Amino acid sequence: MLYRRRGTVRDLRRENRAAVLWSLYFSRPGSRQDLSAATGLSPASVTNVARELLGDGIVAEVGSEDSDGGRPRVLLDINPDYGYVIGVDIGETRIRVELFNLAMAERAKAEYPLDPAEHEVDVVVRDIAAGLRAVLTDGGVDPAAVLGVGIGVPGIVEQGPEVLVYGQTYGWDAVPLERLLRAHTDLPLRFENCAKTMGQAEFWFGAGRCVGNAAVVLIGSGVGASLISGRGSYRGPTSSAAEWGHTTIVVGGRRCRCGSAGCLEAYVGAEAILDRCGSPAALSAGDEESMLAALLAVADSSPTTDAVLAETAEYLGVGIGNLINLFNPERVILGGWAGLLLGGRLLPAIRESAQRHSLRHPFAAASIELGQLGPEAVTFGAATLPMEDFLNGAWRPPLR
Ligand SMILES: [Zn+2]
Repeated sequence: MLYRRRGTVRDLRRENRAAVLWSLYFSRPGSRQDLSAATGLSPASVTNVARELLGDGIVAEVGSEDSDGGRPRVLLDINPDYGYVIGVDIGETRIRVELFNLAMAERAKAEYPLDPAEHEVDVVVRDIAAGLRAVLTDGGVDPAAVLGVGIGVPGIVEQGPEVLVYGQTYGWDAVPLERLLRAHTDLPLRFENCAKTMGQAEFWFGAGRCVGNAAVVLIGSGVGASLISGRGSYRGPTSSAAEWGHTTIVVGGRRCRCGSAGCLEAYVGAEAILDRCGSPAALSAGDEESMLAALLAVADSSPTTDAVLAETAEYLGVGIGNLINLFNPERVILGGWAGLLLGGRLLPAIRESAQRHSLRHPFAAASIELGQLGPEAVTFGAATLPMEDFLNGAWRPPLR
């Protein structure tokens, strides 16, 4: 299976169960015959797993389909209300918490604004805890039915015995976020960099769904990326792979929030674009999303703004060209709230710049597309983290 992590399945029974769950999740509904063909498992094995999943209430029979003159085939589907997953986005300007059922339909949502200049850990932990309580109450969901919580973090997430977060632009240095949240909740917790959660969302359900590998770039105030193949995101030994926003594109260039100079983020991040347009006063007058949208709206009548945006497309194309040369992706997906806003106007210029700044052969193999899941893809992707554990068979049904 494309998304399976074979290392997490411990025995044949569990492996078969995971194979059937993954297959059914991405090709819903399906007959036992479809599942056998897709997984390579024998019809008898699929029947055994299906019986177990039906008995647990994870899967339901939802109808039948004709089968070329034979007996109608019963269709199976995931029971969307068997359990729930929660996604959390620790964004630059707000904390967002969303509760989804197993079909990833939203059941409840809570948001808490953050001061972009202050990301105090205590405030973030307090807001996430409040958000978890709020979505469970508003969604009318028993915590025992929650498979887990995924949390998208704007920084490097080191996955060791204790999860540690390094957010250099926010002054987070080895923050033990899991331990701090554990004081507020017993729910299973998973942590991942926000560009990687967005990448997983687009790879599972959006612009990366039909490709084998993709580079997913996230443009917000800051800039990140994830590199995804059938085996999941590439992380590197300390999980900092694809810190693309802090690759240097101008030697001795603009000062970056990370402390270095000339980083890509210092040119194409929303904060940098607004600053380059010479609107620091306007920055404090409104939120960045409104400001960037306003900037794009006046670009046709403002030569200064138009020039800054043209330069932004050029730099973004340079960065994407570098990704194409380094990683040979089938698709580059441009997302994040600012990436989607910019892409609406600048995508042709970004593609043209990427073409000029990459080798012909890998560029010809890559398409550059906008993300399909909107600006909330980070939260959505965070919720796929506990879903991934569930499909791998980590979740055992409670006694009900
Ligand atoms: Zn930087």
